[in-house]
Amino acid sequence: MLKVEALRIRYGEVEAVRRVDLAVGRGEIVALVGANGAGKSSTLGAIAGLIPVSGGKVTFDGRDMTGAAAETMSRSGIALVPEGRRIFASLTVAENLRLGGAMHLNASEAKAREEEMVELFPILKTYYRVKGGNLSGGEQQMLAIARALMSKPRMILLDEPSLGLAPQMIDTVFDLIANLQASGLTVLLVEQNVALALEIADRATVLANGEAVLAGTAKELASSELVRQAYLGA
Ligand code: ATP
Repeated sequence: MLKVEALRIRYGEVEAVRRVDLAVGRGEIVALVGANGAGKSSTLGAIAGLIPVSGGKVTFDGRDMTGAAAETMSRSGIALVPEGRRIFASLTVAENLRLGGAMHLNASEAKAREEEMVELFPILKTYYRVKGGNLSGGEQQMLAIARALMSKPRMILLDEPSLGLAPQMIDTVFDLIANLQASGLTVLLVEQNVALALEIADRATVLANGEAVLAGTAKELASSELVRQAYLGA
């Protein structure tokens, strides 16, 4: 469904991504793991059309989307849930959701989709008129995911969904991601918590210093010596 080949990203003189290859099949959860600064967020940003690529190729559903704008990527069915959630703190839950669908849905479609979202995330129904900034980290993560789902994407790019959450909330968010996969959504997951990522993913790619250094099934990576020593504290 998504194929990234020899991706390169530069920020001026800094070469943040030097060579990343990865593929995500329909219905899969693929994890992109690696240390701080390895280039994971930059890779997601480039796929979402938010960060310019300086080399390589991004193909989605067989179409070359390299360098496509964020709006084009969004219209073709990819939604990004950014690191740090980036929900609008001074807007209510309802308003945050509405913004998620604003580009793609007319008023009645948006209303119907909002209803589906609050069914899926009952906590958002409880806090429907509450300002986003008053939600806990975990609730904000739910809102960020629901906002991304408003546009009815076929694939979501999740950037560090566990960051800053209490352990119980991490479990809730990861159960939700598994349910989304079960409902047919395709997921590319960036996660610093490698053990957690490998538990939920079908396959994974390890990034180090802007390069994809290892790829395989989650099971293969969980038993790889490199992954165990570098990321699982073995
Ligand atoms: P983290 O988990 O810390 O976000 P990451 O693996 O997602 O790490 P990136 O955020 O993609 O990594 O960063 C990769 C490299 O690019 C880092 O060296 C970072 O400092 C650099 N970088 C990221 N964004 C910018 C920017 N806007 N301008 C300059 N350098 C940047």
